[in-house]
Amino acid sequence: ATSGEESDVVVLGGGPGGYVAAIKAAQLGLKTTCIEKRGTLGGTCLNVGCIPSKLLRCADAVPVVQALLHSSHMYHEAKTSFAHHGVKISNLEVDLPAMMAQKDKAVAGLTKGIEGLFKKNKVTYVKGFGKLASPSEVSVDLIDGGSTVVKGKNIIIATGSDVKSLPGITIDEKKIVSSTGALCLSEIPKKLVVIGAGYIGLEMGSVWNRLGSEVTVVEFAPDIVPSMDGEIRKQFQRMLEKQKMKFMLKTKVVGVDTSGDGVKLTVEPAAGGEQSTLEADIVLVSAGRTPYTSGIGLETIGVETDKAGRILVDKRFMTNVNGVFAIGDAIPGPMLAHKAEEDGVACVEFIAGKEGHVDYDTVPGVVYTHPEVASVGKTEEQVKAEGIAYRVGKFPLLANSRAKAIDDAEGLVKVVADKETDKILGVHIMAPNAGEIIHEAVLALQYGASSEDVARTCHAHPTVSEALKEACLQTFSKAIHI
Ligand code: FAD
Repeated sequence: ATSGEESDVVVLGGGPGGYVAAIKAAQLGLKTTCIEKRGTLGGTCLNVGCIPSKLLRCADAVPVVQALLHSSHMYHEAKTSFAHHGVKISNLEVDLPAMMAQKDKAVAGLTKGIEGLFKKNKVTYVKGFGKLASPSEVSVDLIDGGSTVVKGKNIIIATGSDVKSLPGITIDEKKIVSSTGALCLSEIPKKLVVIGAGYIGLEMGSVWNRLGSEVTVVEFAPDIVPSMDGEIRKQFQRMLEKQKMKFMLKTKVVGVDTSGDGVKLTVEPAAGGEQSTLEADIVLVSAGRTPYTSGIGLETIGVETDKAGRILVDKRFMTNVNGVFAIGDAIPGPMLAHKAEEDGVACVEFIAGKEGHVDYDTVPGVVYTHPEVASVGKTEEQVKAEGIAYRVGKFPLLANSRAKAIDDAEGLVKVVADKETDKILGVHIMAPNAGEIIHEAVLALQYGASSEDVARTCHAHPTVSEALKEACLQTFSKAIHI
């Protein structure tokens, strides 16, 4: 069977890249179809429960993590900080099922909204697993049974990414979990070992650490979050250690034994040496993600990928096959939801005969711990390696009146600017709500602002954002409050 008439655009995958591309394409007047294998444009975790199905999508994971980070932060604040602010609470306890139910409700609301937007924008939504059959056809195994062929003048592959395992470690989503399983634990583990100190591992580790788990993070590299500015990273690690998270850096896991009640991990120094044993109730494998590009018919039509399985595209997001495009986690670049969305919009703008543009140098990155760590542009290490003459301005949160007033003054703002032109090259913030404050810096980089431009911009008092203004002031001249 063939479903309906030919579309102008067929989007394979309904994650942040795919669904945004579909809505934008429809807004540009293109007849659009989006194919999603989950049956819901969001909320698989909610509808079928993520442990039995193991089907939580990346797209769902983002709000799920946010909800759990917020709930666990509230509990942690109530336990550790309320008394200090003169708020007394007795019998404080975690009701994990209620916390998970609140998360489900929040995510259900958000994901249902996307279906509403599809209806509003007249995007045809096909529920099923799609495979490229030709450069203009996708054959779909429908969720409700049967199959169909969806025809399109242009096809956008937005199939995203999947959990990456480690050699010798089998993820069973019971004792050895991926981020998917770690978002749906039914009990608070006494001991949680996180393998991998990237942003997802640290966020998930933070959630369970706040709820009472003893968390140890094992990382092969000498540092946590390798892409982070070195100075910020050191403070970040110290702050997580203060929150009682433990780190074993330059360490590799060489054996896993799940035969007993919990898990026994054999670890040794990355460079080799004496082995030791780590015990855990749950082990979270958070060793990165891999593009979801096999089994979707790429070979049938000859779409080229790199060694990592990422689809290769040109500046217009077109693959080597005419009329077939790819975006988001399935192509090279940062694996982030907002990057996938930008790709989606620019890709359909090209398809519609307009100009599209994504500036990969100004994609912000945020680690949603508390405080948050956010950055945009180049780190000091990158600028140094590129031989650029630069200046650095820093401002500690301890000198920011808002952060002091709310007793949340751990962190700093660091600005890296070109020594000659004063153009801002990078901004790195560790602060409460850094993930919101960073957008002022993103805009500054986007418009090629100098640190003086930001320093001379009036900032409301008292706000944590003033720390960015002061760091900029410190970059080109001298901060007032230090
Ligand atoms: P995906 O979101 O992976 O969507 C791809 C979709 O395609 C899926 O729904 C899948 O079911 C569907 N699909 C795949 N193959 C087929 C097929 N053959 N037929 C039909 N449908 C198919 N990013 C951030 O920016 N901020 C965060 O805070 C953040 N937190 C994260 C936390 C976790 C635990 C995880 C796992 C990821 C997080 N990410 C975060 C990354 C973010 O989720 C991804 O970068 C983003 O979802 C990528 O979007 P995408 O549309 O390319 O792919």
